[in-house]
Amino acid sequence: MPQLDVKTIYFLVGLFATTTGAVLSILALTGRFDRWLKYWGISNLCTGAGILLLTFRDIVPDFYSIAVANMLVIIGYFLLMATAQGLHHRNMTWWPHLLFLGLIAGLFLMMQNADSYYNERTALSSVACGYYALRVAKITKQIAREEDIVSAYLVFGIFTLAALVLGMRILASLTYHLGGDSIFSSGGMSMWVILLAASIGPLWNMSMLLMIMERINRNWIGRALRDPLTGALNREGLKRALENNTMRRHSDSHPFTALLLVDIDHFKQVNDQLGHAFGDELLRSFADIVHHQLRSSDLFARQGGDEFVIILPSSGEKEARDVAGRLQNAFAQETDRVKPDGLAVTLSIGIAVTESDQLSGSLHQLMARADSALYQSKHQGRNRITSAQAA
Ligand code: GH3
Ligand code: MG
Repeated sequence: MPQLDVKTIYFLVGLFATTTGAVLSILALTGRFDRWLKYWGISNLCTGAGILLLTFRDIVPDFYSIAVANMLVIIGYFLLMATAQGLHHRNMTWWPHLLFLGLIAGLFLMMQNADSYYNERTALSSVACGYYALRVAKITKQIAREEDIVSAYLVFGIFTLAALVLGMRILASLTYHLGGDSIFSSGGMSMWVILLAASIGPLWNMSMLLMIMERINRNWIGRALRDPLTGALNREGLKRALENNTMRRHSDSHPFTALLLVDIDHFKQVNDQLGHAFGDELLRSFADIVHHQLRSSDLFARQGGDEFVIILPSSGEKEARDVAGRLQNAFAQETDRVKPDGLAVTLSIGIAVTESDQLSGSLHQLMARADSALYQSKHQGRNRITSAQAA
Protein backbone atom coordinates (compact mmCIF):
# COMPACT_ATOMS: atom_id res chain seq x y z
CA MET A 1 0.00 0.00 0.00
CA PRO A 2 1.48 3.37 -0.96
CA GLN A 3 2.06 5.92 1.75
CA LEU A 4 -1.04 8.11 1.64
CA ASP A 5 -1.21 11.62 2.93
CA VAL A 6 -4.57 11.45 4.69
CA LYS A 7 -4.88 15.21 5.11
CA THR A 8 -4.57 15.70 1.33
CA ILE A 9 -7.33 13.15 0.71
CA TYR A 10 -9.56 15.01 3.17
CA PHE A 11 -8.73 18.25 1.39
CA LEU A 12 -9.62 16.86 -2.05
CA VAL A 13 -12.88 15.28 -0.86
CA GLY A 14 -13.79 18.61 0.76
CA LEU A 15 -12.90 20.53 -2.38
CA PHE A 16 -14.97 18.21 -4.59
CA ALA A 17 -18.04 18.46 -2.35
CA THR A 18 -17.71 22.26 -2.11
CA THR A 19 -17.49 22.79 -5.87
CA THR A 20 -20.42 20.39 -6.45
CA GLY A 21 -22.40 22.29 -3.81
CA ALA A 22 -21.53 25.65 -5.38
CA VAL A 23 -22.73 24.53 -8.83
CA LEU A 24 -25.97 23.05 -7.44
CA SER A 25 -26.65 26.19 -5.38
CA ILE A 26 -26.11 28.47 -8.39
CA LEU A 27 -28.55 26.30 -10.37
CA ALA A 28 -31.05 26.50 -7.49
CA LEU A 29 -30.83 30.30 -7.66
CA THR A 30 -32.20 30.25 -11.23
CA GLY A 31 -35.57 29.35 -9.68
CA ARG A 32 -36.18 26.62 -12.26
CA PHE A 33 -36.05 23.78 -9.73
CA ASP A 34 -38.00 22.74 -6.66
CA ARG A 35 -36.76 23.72 -3.21
CA TRP A 36 -35.01 20.37 -2.73
CA LEU A 37 -32.20 21.48 -5.09
CA LYS A 38 -31.44 24.35 -2.70
CA TYR A 39 -31.10 21.92 0.21
CA TRP A 40 -29.02 19.55 -1.87
CA GLY A 41 -26.65 22.34 -2.97
CA ILE A 42 -26.26 23.78 0.54
CA SER A 43 -25.82 20.24 1.89
CA ASN A 44 -22.81 19.67 -0.38
CA LEU A 45 -21.46 23.13 0.41
CA CYS A 46 -21.71 22.51 4.17
CA THR A 47 -20.20 19.02 4.09
CA GLY A 48 -17.42 20.18 1.75
CA ALA A 49 -16.62 23.32 3.74
CA GLY A 50 -16.65 21.27 6.97
CA ILE A 51 -14.19 18.72 5.60
CA LEU A 52 -11.96 21.49 4.21
CA LEU A 53 -12.00 23.24 7.58
CA LEU A 54 -10.95 20.00 9.30
CA THR A 55 -7.72 20.11 7.29
CA PHE A 56 -6.94 23.55 8.68
CA ARG A 57 -6.20 22.01 12.09
CA ASP A 58 -3.32 23.89 13.80
CA ILE A 59 -3.67 26.73 11.25
CA VAL A 60 -6.97 28.17 12.49
CA PRO A 61 -8.23 28.09 16.11
CA ASP A 62 -9.68 24.72 17.28
CA PHE A 63 -13.11 26.33 17.53
CA TYR A 64 -13.20 26.51 13.70
CA SER A 65 -11.28 23.37 12.76
CA ILE A 66 -13.14 21.20 15.30
CA ALA A 67 -16.48 22.57 16.52
CA VAL A 68 -17.51 24.50 13.39
CA ALA A 69 -16.01 21.94 10.98
CA ASN A 70 -17.82 18.96 12.53
CA MET A 71 -21.09 20.85 12.77
CA LEU A 72 -20.91 21.85 9.10
CA VAL A 73 -20.45 18.20 8.09
CA ILE A 74 -23.40 17.14 10.26
CA ILE A 75 -25.62 19.96 8.96
CA GLY A 76 -24.68 18.79 5.45
CA TYR A 77 -26.00 15.30 6.26
CA PHE A 78 -29.12 16.79 7.81
CA LEU A 79 -29.82 18.85 4.68
CA LEU A 80 -29.38 15.75 2.56
CA MET A 81 -32.19 14.19 4.56
CA ALA A 82 -34.25 17.35 4.00
CA THR A 83 -33.55 16.94 0.26
CA ALA A 84 -34.74 13.33 0.31
CA GLN A 85 -37.80 14.35 2.31
CA GLY A 86 -38.58 17.07 -0.28
CA LEU A 87 -38.17 14.58 -3.10
CA HIS A 88 -40.61 12.31 -1.30
CA HIS A 89 -43.09 15.23 -1.16
CA ARG A 90 -43.18 15.10 2.63
CA ASN A 91 -43.16 18.16 4.84
CA MET A 92 -40.60 18.09 7.58
CA THR A 93 -40.94 19.33 11.15
CA TRP A 94 -37.77 21.32 11.59
CA TRP A 95 -37.67 22.07 15.32
CA PRO A 96 -36.75 18.57 16.65
CA HIS A 97 -33.81 18.53 14.21
CA LEU A 98 -32.72 22.03 15.15
CA LEU A 99 -32.89 21.01 18.82
CA PHE A 100 -30.87 17.86 18.10
CA LEU A 101 -28.28 19.85 16.11
CA GLY A 102 -28.10 22.45 18.89
CA LEU A 103 -27.42 19.72 21.44
CA ILE A 104 -24.66 18.21 19.31
CA ALA A 105 -23.14 21.68 18.78
CA GLY A 106 -23.12 22.20 22.56
CA LEU A 107 -21.27 18.91 23.07
CA PHE A 108 -18.69 19.80 20.41
CA LEU A 109 -18.08 23.14 22.10
CA MET A 110 -17.30 21.22 25.28
CA MET A 111 -14.87 18.92 23.45
CA GLN A 112 -13.02 21.29 21.14
CA ASN A 113 -9.57 20.76 22.61
CA ALA A 114 -7.64 19.06 19.75
CA ASP A 115 -5.36 17.06 22.04
CA SER A 116 -8.09 15.22 23.93
CA TYR A 117 -11.61 13.80 23.26
CA TYR A 118 -10.63 12.46 19.80
CA ASN A 119 -12.61 9.23 20.33
CA GLU A 120 -15.60 11.02 21.83
CA ARG A 121 -15.79 13.56 19.03
CA THR A 122 -15.54 10.85 16.39
CA ALA A 123 -18.31 8.85 18.08
CA LEU A 124 -20.53 11.94 18.30
CA SER A 125 -20.13 13.01 14.66
CA SER A 126 -20.61 9.39 13.49
CA VAL A 127 -23.84 9.08 15.52
CA ALA A 128 -25.29 12.26 13.99
CA CYS A 129 -24.14 11.57 10.40
CA GLY A 130 -25.07 7.86 10.68
CA TYR A 131 -28.57 8.76 11.88
CA TYR A 132 -29.16 11.08 8.93
CA ALA A 133 -27.64 8.58 6.47
CA LEU A 134 -30.09 5.96 7.77
CA ARG A 135 -32.99 8.38 7.36
CA VAL A 136 -31.96 9.08 3.75
CA ALA A 137 -31.74 5.32 3.11
CA LYS A 138 -35.22 4.79 4.57
CA ILE A 139 -36.83 7.61 2.58
CA THR A 140 -35.22 6.56 -0.72
CA LYS A 141 -36.32 2.96 -0.16
CA GLN A 142 -39.89 4.24 0.22
CA ILE A 143 -39.54 6.24 -3.00
CA ALA A 144 -38.15 3.14 -4.77
CA ARG A 145 -41.06 0.98 -3.60
CA GLU A 146 -43.92 3.41 -3.95
CA GLU A 147 -42.92 4.78 -7.34
CA ASP A 148 -41.08 1.75 -8.73
CA ILE A 149 -37.86 3.71 -9.31
CA VAL A 150 -34.89 1.37 -9.67
CA SER A 151 -32.15 3.98 -9.20
CA ALA A 152 -33.65 4.93 -5.83
CA TYR A 153 -32.45 1.48 -4.68
CA LEU A 154 -28.93 2.58 -5.63
CA VAL A 155 -29.25 5.64 -3.39
CA PHE A 156 -30.68 3.40 -0.68
CA GLY A 157 -27.70 1.01 -1.02
CA ILE A 158 -25.09 3.78 -0.87
CA PHE A 159 -26.60 5.40 2.20
CA THR A 160 -27.07 2.08 3.95
CA LEU A 161 -23.38 1.38 3.32
CA ALA A 162 -22.48 4.84 4.65
CA ALA A 163 -24.61 4.23 7.77
CA LEU A 164 -22.94 0.83 8.30
CA VAL A 165 -19.45 2.29 8.05
CA LEU A 166 -20.39 5.11 10.43
CA GLY A 167 -21.81 2.47 12.80
CA MET A 168 -18.48 0.65 12.74
CA ARG A 169 -16.75 3.95 13.40
CA ILE A 170 -18.92 4.51 16.47
CA LEU A 171 -17.96 1.06 17.77
CA ALA A 172 -14.27 1.64 17.03
CA SER A 173 -14.26 4.99 18.79
CA LEU A 174 -16.15 3.75 21.85
CA THR A 175 -13.71 0.84 22.22
CA TYR A 176 -10.66 3.04 21.50
CA HIS A 177 -9.83 1.14 18.30
CA LEU A 178 -9.75 4.10 15.91
CA GLY A 179 -6.00 3.85 15.43
CA GLY A 180 -3.79 6.93 15.92
CA ASP A 181 -4.65 10.07 17.81
CA SER A 182 -6.22 12.19 15.07
CA ILE A 183 -8.39 11.75 11.96
CA PHE A 184 -5.26 12.29 9.86
CA SER A 185 -3.35 9.31 11.32
CA SER A 186 -2.21 7.09 8.49
CA GLY A 187 -3.77 3.60 8.67
CA GLY A 188 -6.40 4.69 11.22
CA MET A 189 -10.14 4.06 10.84
CA SER A 190 -10.75 7.66 9.74
CA MET A 191 -8.38 7.15 6.82
CA TRP A 192 -10.50 4.25 5.57
CA VAL A 193 -13.67 6.26 6.03
CA ILE A 194 -12.36 9.19 3.95
CA LEU A 195 -11.03 6.77 1.32
CA LEU A 196 -14.52 5.28 1.05
CA ALA A 197 -15.98 8.80 0.89
CA ALA A 198 -13.52 9.63 -1.92
CA SER A 199 -14.59 6.57 -3.92
CA ILE A 200 -18.36 6.66 -3.38
CA GLY A 201 -18.67 10.46 -3.08
CA PRO A 202 -19.21 11.06 -6.81
CA LEU A 203 -21.57 8.08 -6.98
CA TRP A 204 -23.44 9.48 -3.98
CA ASN A 205 -24.49 12.59 -5.92
CA MET A 206 -24.80 10.78 -9.23
CA SER A 207 -27.20 8.20 -7.80
CA MET A 208 -29.43 10.99 -6.47
CA LEU A 209 -29.38 12.60 -9.90
CA LEU A 210 -30.25 9.30 -11.59
CA MET A 211 -33.12 8.79 -9.17
CA ILE A 212 -34.49 12.25 -9.96
CA MET A 213 -34.12 11.73 -13.72
CA GLU A 214 -35.79 8.33 -13.65
CA ARG A 215 -38.65 9.76 -11.67
CA ILE A 216 -39.17 12.69 -14.05
CA ASN A 217 -39.06 10.26 -16.96
CA ARG A 218 -41.68 7.98 -15.42
CA ASN A 219 -43.83 10.92 -14.55
CA TRP A 220 -43.91 12.20 -18.14
CA ILE A 221 -44.45 8.73 -19.60
CA GLY A 222 -47.32 8.27 -17.13
CA ARG A 223 -48.86 11.56 -18.23
CA ALA A 224 -48.42 10.81 -21.92
CA LEU A 225 -50.39 7.58 -21.50
CA ARG A 226 -53.33 9.01 -19.54
CA ASP A 227 -56.20 11.35 -20.18
CA PRO A 228 -55.62 14.40 -17.96
CA LEU A 229 -59.32 15.04 -17.21
CA THR A 230 -60.34 11.59 -15.97
CA GLY A 231 -57.03 9.84 -15.23
CA ALA A 232 -58.17 6.96 -17.45
CA LEU A 233 -55.68 5.52 -19.95
CA ASN A 234 -55.69 7.07 -23.42
CA ARG A 235 -55.54 4.90 -26.56
CA GLU A 236 -51.76 4.62 -26.51
CA GLY A 237 -51.86 3.84 -22.78
CA LEU A 238 -54.39 1.08 -23.37
CA LYS A 239 -52.26 -0.38 -26.16
CA ARG A 240 -49.15 -0.40 -23.96
CA ALA A 241 -51.01 -1.82 -20.96
CA LEU A 242 -52.36 -4.65 -23.10
CA GLU A 243 -48.87 -5.42 -24.44
CA ASN A 244 -47.43 -5.49 -20.91
CA ASN A 245 -50.27 -7.65 -19.59
CA THR A 246 -50.13 -10.33 -22.26
CA MET A 247 -48.02 -12.79 -20.26
CA ARG A 248 -50.17 -12.53 -17.17
CA ARG A 249 -53.37 -13.17 -19.08
CA HIS A 250 -51.96 -16.29 -20.68
CA SER A 251 -51.41 -17.81 -17.26
CA ASP A 252 -54.90 -16.92 -16.02
CA SER A 253 -57.09 -19.83 -15.04
CA HIS A 254 -60.25 -18.23 -16.48
CA PRO A 255 -60.12 -18.57 -20.28
CA PHE A 256 -62.12 -15.43 -21.22
CA THR A 257 -61.60 -11.69 -21.31
CA ALA A 258 -64.50 -9.25 -21.55
CA LEU A 259 -64.54 -5.81 -23.12
CA LEU A 260 -67.13 -3.19 -22.22
CA LEU A 261 -67.78 -0.08 -24.28
CA VAL A 262 -69.58 2.54 -22.19
CA ASP A 263 -71.12 5.78 -23.49
CA ILE A 264 -72.93 8.40 -21.43
CA ASP A 265 -76.47 9.04 -22.72
CA HIS A 266 -77.56 12.56 -23.73
CA PHE A 267 -74.26 14.02 -22.65
CA LYS A 268 -74.60 16.87 -25.13
CA GLN A 269 -77.70 18.04 -23.28
CA VAL A 270 -75.73 18.07 -20.03
CA ASN A 271 -73.20 20.39 -21.63
CA ASP A 272 -75.87 22.53 -23.24
CA GLN A 273 -78.09 22.88 -20.17
CA LEU A 274 -75.57 22.88 -17.33
CA GLY A 275 -72.36 24.07 -18.95
CA HIS A 276 -69.15 22.46 -20.12
CA ALA A 277 -67.57 22.66 -16.65
CA PHE A 278 -70.43 20.60 -15.21
CA GLY A 279 -69.96 18.11 -18.07
CA ASP A 280 -66.28 17.83 -17.18
CA GLU A 281 -67.16 17.23 -13.53
CA LEU A 282 -69.59 14.48 -14.55
CA LEU A 283 -66.90 12.78 -16.63
CA ARG A 284 -64.58 12.90 -13.61
CA SER A 285 -67.27 11.44 -11.32
CA PHE A 286 -67.89 8.65 -13.80
CA ALA A 287 -64.15 7.85 -13.87
CA ASP A 288 -64.03 7.82 -10.05
CA ILE A 289 -66.95 5.38 -9.95
CA VAL A 290 -65.23 3.08 -12.45
CA HIS A 291 -61.91 3.22 -10.57
CA HIS A 292 -63.75 2.17 -7.41
CA GLN A 293 -65.55 -0.72 -9.07
CA LEU A 294 -62.62 -2.29 -10.93
CA ARG A 295 -59.91 -4.72 -9.81
CA SER A 296 -56.27 -3.73 -10.15
CA SER A 297 -55.86 -6.09 -13.12
CA ASP A 298 -58.74 -4.46 -15.05
CA LEU A 299 -58.04 -1.74 -17.61
CA PHE A 300 -59.96 1.49 -18.05
CA ALA A 301 -59.44 3.86 -20.96
CA ARG A 302 -61.08 6.93 -22.47
CA GLN A 303 -61.84 6.21 -26.09
CA GLY A 304 -62.77 9.85 -26.79
CA GLY A 305 -65.53 12.30 -25.74
CA ASP A 306 -67.95 10.49 -23.42
CA GLU A 307 -67.02 6.97 -24.57
CA PHE A 308 -64.90 4.64 -22.42
CA VAL A 309 -63.45 1.12 -22.72
CA ILE A 310 -63.16 -1.32 -19.84
CA ILE A 311 -61.26 -4.59 -20.19
CA LEU A 312 -61.86 -7.29 -17.61
CA PRO A 313 -59.32 -10.13 -17.75
CA SER A 314 -60.50 -13.53 -16.46
CA SER A 315 -64.13 -12.58 -17.01
CA GLY A 316 -66.94 -13.97 -19.14
CA GLU A 317 -70.27 -12.42 -20.15
CA LYS A 318 -71.89 -12.95 -16.75
CA GLU A 319 -69.10 -11.17 -14.84
CA ALA A 320 -69.10 -8.38 -17.44
CA ARG A 321 -72.87 -7.88 -17.07
CA ASP A 322 -72.50 -7.76 -13.27
CA VAL A 323 -69.87 -5.06 -13.53
CA ALA A 324 -71.92 -3.15 -16.13
CA GLY A 325 -75.01 -3.27 -13.88
CA ARG A 326 -73.05 -2.04 -10.87
CA LEU A 327 -71.66 0.86 -12.90
CA GLN A 328 -75.13 1.88 -14.09
CA ASN A 329 -76.49 1.83 -10.53
CA ALA A 330 -73.59 3.75 -9.03
CA PHE A 331 -73.72 6.34 -11.86
CA ALA A 332 -77.50 6.72 -11.48
CA GLN A 333 -77.09 7.43 -7.75
CA GLU A 334 -74.39 9.99 -8.46
CA THR A 335 -76.30 11.81 -11.22
CA ASP A 336 -79.59 11.80 -9.26
CA ARG A 337 -77.81 13.79 -6.61
CA VAL A 338 -76.52 16.52 -8.93
CA LYS A 339 -78.66 16.81 -12.05
CA PRO A 340 -81.98 18.70 -12.39
CA ASP A 341 -85.22 16.73 -12.80
CA GLY A 342 -86.23 15.89 -16.34
CA LEU A 343 -82.68 15.32 -17.58
CA ALA A 344 -81.87 11.63 -18.09
CA VAL A 345 -78.15 10.99 -17.75
CA THR A 346 -77.62 7.25 -17.91
CA LEU A 347 -75.13 4.76 -19.34
CA SER A 348 -75.43 2.64 -22.48
CA ILE A 349 -73.10 -0.33 -22.53
CA GLY A 350 -71.98 -2.86 -25.15
CA ILE A 351 -70.18 -6.06 -24.15
CA ALA A 352 -68.03 -8.44 -26.19
CA VAL A 353 -66.12 -11.46 -24.92
CA THR A 354 -63.17 -13.35 -26.37
CA GLU A 355 -60.80 -16.14 -25.37
CA SER A 356 -57.98 -14.53 -23.40
CA ASP A 357 -55.17 -16.00 -25.45
CA GLN A 358 -56.67 -14.51 -28.62
CA LEU A 359 -57.10 -11.01 -27.25
CA SER A 360 -54.00 -9.39 -28.71
CA GLY A 361 -54.80 -10.63 -32.21
CA SER A 362 -58.51 -9.85 -32.10
CA LEU A 363 -58.68 -6.60 -30.15
CA HIS A 364 -59.78 -4.60 -33.17
CA GLN A 365 -62.53 -7.09 -33.94
CA LEU A 366 -63.57 -7.31 -30.28
CA MET A 367 -63.87 -3.55 -30.12
CA ALA A 368 -66.01 -3.54 -33.29
CA ARG A 369 -68.35 -6.16 -31.79
CA ALA A 370 -68.68 -4.20 -28.54
CA ASP A 371 -69.35 -1.09 -30.62
CA SER A 372 -72.23 -2.67 -32.49
CA ALA A 373 -73.61 -3.98 -29.18
CA LEU A 374 -73.39 -0.42 -27.81
CA TYR A 375 -75.17 0.84 -30.91
CA GLN A 376 -78.00 -1.59 -30.19
CA SER A 377 -78.21 -0.35 -26.59
CA LYS A 378 -78.55 3.22 -27.90
CA HIS A 379 -80.99 2.20 -30.62
CA GLN A 380 -83.25 0.31 -28.22
CA GLY A 381 -83.74 3.37 -26.03
CA ARG A 382 -80.46 3.84 -24.07
CA ASN A 383 -79.69 3.02 -20.41
CA ARG A 384 -79.16 -0.61 -21.49
CA ILE A 385 -76.60 -3.39 -21.50
CA THR A 386 -76.26 -5.43 -24.71
CA SER A 387 -73.93 -8.34 -25.36
CA ALA A 388 -72.51 -8.96 -28.82
CA GLN A 389 -73.19 -12.32 -30.43
CA ALA A 390 -70.19 -14.64 -30.17
CA ALA A 391 -68.15 -14.35 -33.37
P1 GH3 B 1 -75.87 9.75 -27.03
O1 GH3 B 1 -76.92 9.63 -25.99
O2 GH3 B 1 -76.30 9.23 -28.36
O3 GH3 B 1 -74.56 9.23 -26.61
O4 GH3 B 1 -75.70 11.33 -27.27
P2 GH3 B 1 -74.78 12.33 -26.51
O5 GH3 B 1 -75.55 13.55 -26.25
O6 GH3 B 1 -74.11 11.72 -25.34
O7 GH3 B 1 -73.71 12.71 -27.59
P3 GH3 B 1 -72.43 11.95 -28.09
O8 GH3 B 1 -72.09 10.80 -27.24
O9 GH3 B 1 -72.57 11.70 -29.56
O10 GH3 B 1 -71.33 13.12 -27.97
C1 GH3 B 1 -70.58 13.34 -26.82
C2 GH3 B 1 -70.50 14.80 -26.50
O11 GH3 B 1 -69.57 14.95 -25.44
C3 GH3 B 1 -70.03 15.70 -27.59
C4 GH3 B 1 -69.10 16.71 -26.92
O12 GH3 B 1 -69.64 17.99 -26.93
C5 GH3 B 1 -69.01 16.25 -25.50
N1 GH3 B 1 -67.65 16.16 -25.01
C6 GH3 B 1 -66.62 15.50 -25.58
N2 GH3 B 1 -65.51 15.62 -24.81
C7 GH3 B 1 -65.85 16.39 -23.75
C8 GH3 B 1 -65.14 16.86 -22.61
O13 GH3 B 1 -63.96 16.60 -22.39
N3 GH3 B 1 -65.84 17.60 -21.72
C9 GH3 B 1 -67.15 17.92 -21.88
N4 GH3 B 1 -67.78 18.65 -20.97
N5 GH3 B 1 -67.84 17.50 -22.96
C10 GH3 B 1 -67.21 16.73 -23.88
MG1 MG C 1 -72.97 9.93 -25.41
